[in-house]
Amino acid sequence: MSKVHVFNAGPCVLPQVAIDNAIEALKNFSGTGVSLISISHRTKEWDAVMDECRALWKELLHIPDTHEVVFLGGGASLQFLYVAMNFLEKKAAYLDTGVWAHKALVEAQGIGEAYALACSKDKNYTYIPKGFDIPKDLDYLHITTNNTIYGTEIHEDIDCPVPLIADMSSDIMSRPVDVSKYDLIYGGAQKNVGPAGVIFAIIRKDALGRVSRHIPTMLDYRTHIDKLSMFNTPPVFNIFVMKETLKWLKGLGGVEAMYEMNKKKAALLYDEIDRNSMFIGTAAKEDRSLMNVCFVMAPGKEDLQDEFMAFAKSRGMIGIKGHRSVGGFRASLYNACPIEDVEALVECMKEFEDLKK
Ligand SMILES: *Cc1c(COP(=O)(O)O)cnc(C)c1O
Repeated sequence: MSKVHVFNAGPCVLPQVAIDNAIEALKNFSGTGVSLISISHRTKEWDAVMDECRALWKELLHIPDTHEVVFLGGGASLQFLYVAMNFLEKKAAYLDTGVWAHKALVEAQGIGEAYALACSKDKNYTYIPKGFDIPKDLDYLHITTNNTIYGTEIHEDIDCPVPLIADMSSDIMSRPVDVSKYDLIYGGAQKNVGPAGVIFAIIRKDALGRVSRHIPTMLDYRTHIDKLSMFNTPPVFNIFVMKETLKWLKGLGGVEAMYEMNKKKAALLYDEIDRNSMFIGTAAKEDRSLMNVCFVMAPGKEDLQDEFMAFAKSRGMIGIKGHRSVGGFRASLYNACPIEDVEALVECMKEFEDLKK
């Protein structure tokens, strides 16, 4: 098999060491002679995995004692419902910056009053709305920090006069975050921290219990905080791989070091997109995502799209097809994507330009 460069948007590349350790644990978990997926989750060996995973989250993101992190099933999409169930009493606002943000809003509207405070759909979500006022009477403002499909990102932890809730599915652990500014940060693991099938939720504990509705047991964050994510059988395999992924990240210097690397990788590719006469970027420059780099053929070159796709494929590029709602190309540069892969893609774009000159 020749060398491949994987730019999948999610599920995505994970560190090889995490995969290798998971394979070993599938055969023989922690020296028990039993497979990771056959052990009881009520054992001290499993408790150790859970404890280590939780501790890594807290250490890497400097999560303050006011917050707890839990790991659950159901995907980020089920978190859209959790958010409204646990935090929506009178009224909530959403920043509508893409398909996922919009889905989160629609889910909340099934529970109570929720509306889009600002929306960038007028330009197919290629920018982050700015200059909006945040009313003081909201239960919360919901944002999606990285818009996976469109390649836009909110680069700062915004100052918010009301509780702030963020879907960070696709940029968690890619940059430092001031967790204390958020009442809730959640996301699916499969974009940056693990395999699909587990979500993380970092919750300000004293923000819970303020809604008057009855919350079903499984949808109540308090259940999972009280039971340390073990109210019911946790997705053990997924949590194990997440733990191994975070261990790898810590070994590289943590989120701060990762952020420097991510800026470098993204700059490399954006610089080439801006330089290369064949391509143009689709996201507003100031809002360009470090994680998902979206680009299309330059005006007049549109008919070369299939040709470039085939050319890139022949050079080992995998997963660079843009989302169907945007078209063109998207290269996802998550933490585990090595800079060498980005260099290979840049080289491939240069070669294509030379070929077509
Ligand atoms: C992928 C993604 C989701 C959906 O995640 P699932 O785990 O598939 O439900 C939600 N939000 C964002 C920002 C995403 O990138």
